[in-house]
Amino acid sequence: GKEPRVVLSARGLSKSFGGFHAVKNVDIDVLDTQIHALIGPNGAGKTTVFNLLTKFLQPSSGRIELLGEDITKTAPDRVARKGLVRSFQISAVFPHLSVLDNVRVALQRPNGLATQFWQPLSALDRLNEQAEALIDRVGLHRERDAIAEDLSYGRKRVLEIATTLALDPRVLLLDEPMAGMGLEDVAMVAEIIKSVARDRAVLMVEHNLKIVSDICDHITVLQRGEILAQGDYATVSQDQRVRIAYMGT
Ligand code: ADP
Repeated sequence: GKEPRVVLSARGLSKSFGGFHAVKNVDIDVLDTQIHALIGPNGAGKTTVFNLLTKFLQPSSGRIELLGEDITKTAPDRVARKGLVRSFQISAVFPHLSVLDNVRVALQRPNGLATQFWQPLSALDRLNEQAEALIDRVGLHRERDAIAEDLSYGRKRVLEIATTLALDPRVLLLDEPMAGMGLEDVAMVAEIIKSVARDRAVLMVEHNLKIVSDICDHITVLQRGEILAQGDYATVSQDQRVRIAYMGT
């Protein structure tokens, strides 16, 4: 088959806080239609890498490209509009609105980011078809009219992902999307992420190696801000340095 195209890439990405090097010389390629995991122990630099890629933080050095365009100096809202979206960025799930209304509100935002004003819900009927399709896609059809705050924890996170998908991102960044979930919800969210990655790229921070081995195509292992290993699960899990540093064997 044809190798999927690189949609997001970083070269020599570094970030220091004062004299402390939180991220050192990181190279990452995120491919379309793939699920890429960013793993590593606490303090490895995973959150900082997410903040650098989304431009919440300005890199000390290095270069970032999104869809072949240099975004190293681009502001975070523009980066989101160009298609690199992090789940919490818009995870303004309104607790007192229904699932359907939450998705309709997300769909009407012109660039997915907060606007100065929202239209009244009654003006959103034109978005119903699109909203229903999205709700079906993430498997929330039975909860369509449920109030967001009444959803289970797992389904609340799924609604969050749905509102993010309303922006139709090219690259979706998920920070521990299954954290705190039971096995059933983990399986549900895993299926959703796989389906979501059929027509975009997903980069996710994940601690659970079972999930990583089950659904991720490519893995980047960070340790103390540096890349320890990169590759598919078989490659990375056989790497001697990863076994010593990360898996303790
Ligand atoms: P992870 O997400 O892998 O747990 P982080 O990216 O949160 O790691 O942190 C990496 C390192 O950078 C940690 O040692 C952390 O204390 C440090 N760090 C993160 N943000 C800041 C900051 N704003 N100022 C100073 N140090 C920071």
